[in-house]
Amino acid sequence: MSVISPARPSQTADYNLLPPMVQALLDQALTEADDTTDNHEFRTLMEMATRLAGLDLPKGHDIAKCACPDCYCGAIFDTAAPGLRQVDNSGEYNLPLLQCADCADAHPVHHED
Ligand SMILES: [Zn+2]
Ligand SMILES: [Zn+2]
Repeated sequence: MSVISPARPSQTADYNLLPPMVQALLDQALTEADDTTDNHEFRTLMEMATRLAGLDLPKGHDIAKCACPDCYCGAIFDTAAPGLRQVDNSGEYNLPLLQCADCADAHPVHHED
């Protein structure tokens, strides 16, 4: 495998710019990572998803796609990045649904109390 990824300071990718086949594989990897209870499998799937997105693997082995309900944002980011905001969910996912920092800044989701 050739090394084509230059060191970039930004740790985000845009899902909407990825080819449809890569989007499908990425969705599958993230869905399976969400479903698995096996830590080794989780890491493997996250490594796959990270490579598909063209990101460097974050220390926490955990990336997410922006779950903003208000726009079609396709940001993919390290879940340990600053400025993220958790989107309320009904508990059907293991992984937290997160808004990317840009969305959290522009139109943060409101949490029900
Ligand atoms: Zn976003
Ligand atoms: Zn948004």
